[in-house]
Amino acid sequence: MHMDNADIAIIGGTGFYGSDLLENFREIEISTPYGKPSDSITIGDFNGLKIAFLPRHGKKHSITPHRINFRANMWALKQLGVKRIITPDAVGSLQENIRPGEFLIPDQFIDLTNSRNNTFYDEGKVAHISMAEPFCPELSRIVFESGKNLGYEMHDKGTVVVIQGPRFSSKAESKLYRSWDAQIINMEVSTECTLAREAEICYAYIGMITDYDTFADKTVNVTDVMEILKQNSNNAHDLIKDAIPKIPQKRGCACGDALKDAMV
Ligand SMILES: [Zn+2]
Repeated sequence: MHMDNADIAIIGGTGFYGSDLLENFREIEISTPYGKPSDSITIGDFNGLKIAFLPRHGKKHSITPHRINFRANMWALKQLGVKRIITPDAVGSLQENIRPGEFLIPDQFIDLTNSRNNTFYDEGKVAHISMAEPFCPELSRIVFESGKNLGYEMHDKGTVVVIQGPRFSSKAESKLYRSWDAQIINMEVSTECTLAREAEICYAYIGMITDYDTFADKTVNVTDVMEILKQNSNNAHDLIKDAIPKIPQKRGCACGDALKDAMV
């Protein structure tokens, strides 16, 4: 365990950079057996808890999705003693009824990424972690209820398709994902969620809808997207502020025992 510690971590994705909900904060550098995390980690106080903030793409947003050192990020948070991760992130919508500005809390993913280090168990020990229910049900429920509470348009449950990137989908791909009954699309969540489960950390994802994926045949206007990103980011801040005090100290989920039946 690191000398610093935190109870809950927020991983900031595209469209979410703020650590401004923290008081008495400081930045710490953590090194891991996998190299450096995306950036220094900010640790501070909120509502009597220690909260860590890590920007997934680095503070300057310079790390492209397939180059993120997901293992170093997760290892660093584990070293801090983090038990829960909440991550708001910009996503594309695959369905007309899931509109820009709305939030979706997924309960499933379809992982189409390739050539990523998505396990801590690639030599020595063999672990087959269960991903039947990839996201923490308890934490996801709390986050969803907070969004509802604040009057946001919230979508409960749904499937996120995770593509390798950094390119966007072709129209044919986007239409295929729609036919799978998937709701949103992103480039990071499955890798991170899997490593969180291996680290026995609860993980809840807030998909902030920024635009429609390429199926929609809409020209993307950068000004509109930036406007939506800003609004989503402000809303996500308020949502997290509302959710954190509602998280029970003792976990009522199985995430903390994920390795128990996974080791060969
Ligand atoms: Zn959990």
